[in-house]
Amino acid sequence: MTWAPLLRLKAALGPEAELVVVGGAIRDELLGRPHTDWDLATRLLPQVVMNRARAAGLKVIPTGLQHGTVTVILEDRPVEVTTFRSDGDYLDGRHPESVRLGVDLVEDLSRRDFTINAMALPVGGGDLVDPFGGRVDLTARIIRAVGDPLKRFAEDGLRPLRACRFAAQLGFEVEATTLAAIPQRLEVARKVSVERVFTELDKLLRGVESGRGLTLLAESGLMDLWLPELRPMLGCGQNRHHRYDVWIHTLEVIRFMPAEPGLRWAALLHDVGKPGTRTLGPDDEAHFYGHEGRSLDLAEAILDRLKASHALRKEVAALIRHHGTHPTDAWGDAACRRFLRRLSEDGLALEHWAAFRWADQQGKGLEVAAREVEHHTLMSRLGTLAAAAPPLSVRELALDGAALMRLAGRPGGPWLGELQRQLLEAVLEDPGVNSPEGLADLVARYRGQS
Ligand code: ATP
Ligand code: MG
Repeated sequence: MTWAPLLRLKAALGPEAELVVVGGAIRDELLGRPHTDWDLATRLLPQVVMNRARAAGLKVIPTGLQHGTVTVILEDRPVEVTTFRSDGDYLDGRHPESVRLGVDLVEDLSRRDFTINAMALPVGGGDLVDPFGGRVDLTARIIRAVGDPLKRFAEDGLRPLRACRFAAQLGFEVEATTLAAIPQRLEVARKVSVERVFTELDKLLRGVESGRGLTLLAESGLMDLWLPELRPMLGCGQNRHHRYDVWIHTLEVIRFMPAEPGLRWAALLHDVGKPGTRTLGPDDEAHFYGHEGRSLDLAEAILDRLKASHALRKEVAALIRHHGTHPTDAWGDAACRRFLRRLSEDGLALEHWAAFRWADQQGKGLEVAAREVEHHTLMSRLGTLAAAAPPLSVRELALDGAALMRLAGRPGGPWLGELQRQLLEAVLEDPGVNSPEGLADLVARYRGQS
């Protein structure tokens, strides 16, 4: 496992640096998983790392000197180099009061969260340093706290959530004592900043076994800290269109969904409004009238509280808003084009809507063969209509506002917007009329009628 540029850094820092790769990169390399970042650790103090790396012509950024971290740019990639350190007392459940630099490697590894994250490998070759049995746990697919989990989770309330996140990303079990410690440390977890929470939840949701992670959140009580609105979904029974309750259906939809943030968050939240809208019909069938709207409100409140980005909130809202629309064979082309317009107004790509719809269908747990044919037929029809690039907004009309004013011989006013909407309706009905002449004819005809 050597990425050649690391050897250059090792040569720059000299042998007494004891430069090692630590943390996630080792875990992922041993698992054969791709990883994006390299975390390095060294005995040298940060100022020395900076001086020596710069002397060797490397670009260095002092990103976190007080924590012992500098970032070295190797072939355009940022690599964090952190001095071996031990953490002082944690008083706030989030950050150590102080850090002590200049400790040895094993002490540095002992402050790390889980055994699978507490291994080191010397850059340039040498034996794996694995004082806590990370390798064995990796083979057994277990997430185990380094040391006493009650103590470790009291220090930093993010760790319980990280345990669930790694379970979801790697498909591992959380070891029994580690798991049992989580419900006892919820008050510490509650103090963690919402930004750190969101990052972990997002990684969890995009994990290969996100259902495992979400189940852990529900069972351990972590869910109630950050996503309390989800709790009523557990055990909320549905109807003959569904095999599962709302919660299990949600986990299934996520499982079938491509691992993109917008799609996965929308999958998590698309039915969150169902429990609050559930009614029973005379035949004892459950109904959920207006659940899209209620889900939308709850989803917006949740993502707002978690300080999710504007782009994510917008995409999730659009997916939820349109997830209950089911175009059928009975729809004419014009109705389909109007639907494409609504998606485009909400900035939602047809492919994303389709991916969502198909995962939602599969998540019902019923026979999908017939539905698959229907889905593909519908998508090829919508795809063909969209590929013809029909005008979907007034901006795409063949006559702009100025041309329409000239044609009508009138200055602008509310009539203009009204006319443009009318013309767009006509064009959605028949895109063939979207030429300057075609629209001029229509305008003349409307004037004759009024
Ligand atoms: P990812 O693949 O998400 O980057 P990672 O394990 O590399 O996973 P990072 O957040 O990049 O996670 O952290 C790097 C390393 O720092 C971890 O592997 C772990 O050893 C240590 N670490 C990170 N966060 C904590 C924490 N809250 N408590 C203790 N150790 C931590
Ligand atoms: Mg990392």
